[in-house]
Amino acid sequence: MKVIALSVVVPVYNEEQGLHALFERLYPACDALHVDYEIIFINDGSTDRSAALLREQFNRRPECTRVILFNGNFGQHIAIMAGFEHSRGRRIVTLDADLQNPPEEIGKLLAKMDEGYDYVGSVRKQRRDSRWRHYASRAMNRLRERITHIRMTDQGCMLRAYDRTIIDAINQSKEVNTFIPALAYTYASKPAEIEVEHEERAAGVSKYSVYSLIRLNFDLVTGFSIVPLQTFSFFGIIISLLAALFVVFLVIRRIVVGPEVEGVFTLFAITFLLMGIILFGIGLLGEYIGRIYQQVRQRPRYLIQAILEQQDQA
Ligand code: UDP
Ligand code: MG
Repeated sequence: MKVIALSVVVPVYNEEQGLHALFERLYPACDALHVDYEIIFINDGSTDRSAALLREQFNRRPECTRVILFNGNFGQHIAIMAGFEHSRGRRIVTLDADLQNPPEEIGKLLAKMDEGYDYVGSVRKQRRDSRWRHYASRAMNRLRERITHIRMTDQGCMLRAYDRTIIDAINQSKEVNTFIPALAYTYASKPAEIEVEHEERAAGVSKYSVYSLIRLNFDLVTGFSIVPLQTFSFFGIIISLLAALFVVFLVIRRIVVGPEVEGVFTLFAITFLLMGIILFGIGLLGEYIGRIYQQVRQRPRYLIQAILEQQDQA
């Protein structure tokens, strides 16, 4: 496989409205870098005309375009994984197809890498997302940093550059349901972040709902740390100790004061609180077991329908 300087990996899922604008900006931005590059689009089972548009674009610039067509929708991060597995660049940049990350900033990322960093993340200068999303993601970031030790100021920003060594490590990871920037961070030896511009989605709609954002964060935490489980057992020890003291107290009280039935509602309150904690614990266990289950099935993470590339590229 021929090695080149740069691979740009772009997952595409139902982006027909924005793809044209993406091509118009991404290619000139890459041409301006004056390096050998390839752009790898992964069509993640789009149900609109995205695949056809990617085909057209491949015919327009076959020398630097490769298109991987998935057989269904496997998710953004699995799509990026597939892109990584087929990439040939010494450096790899990931980018969203919706132009929220301006392609013109790729040069900045690479310049930062020239300083010796092997992972360059990005932080959106001025987020134009809605206010509640902004606060929610800030709070989530803090929590995640505490639990997983993964430092990422802006986890929603996919415009990131990775060195080949990191990509090779990722390619060896057989994880399902992962979060690429976090996985890459755990392999990075010298990570850095820079500020980039941020724009409103050029066209189309966000593929993520509130629910899937919550899911994503659960995956992030349970996928990279067992701190929640450990906290939980610690919690269990404290509560059992307190409960033991309470039993001793009640027994003594029974002997001294005699039988009583006062305080039934307090007892209910305590019981419900504990039940809530127990249910949460079972749910948490379920998260981990679910991950284990998905992992042991060892199903292929994605299925490729076709790859469009020039013969000499492969
Ligand atoms: N995407 C994908 N598969 C999916 C969902 C999204 O490949 O199942 C792609 C999508 O086309 C886009 C990127 O992942 O290029 C980010 O998606 P989106 O912009 O909807 O997410 P947001 O920016 O709202 O977090
Ligand atoms: Mg987006």
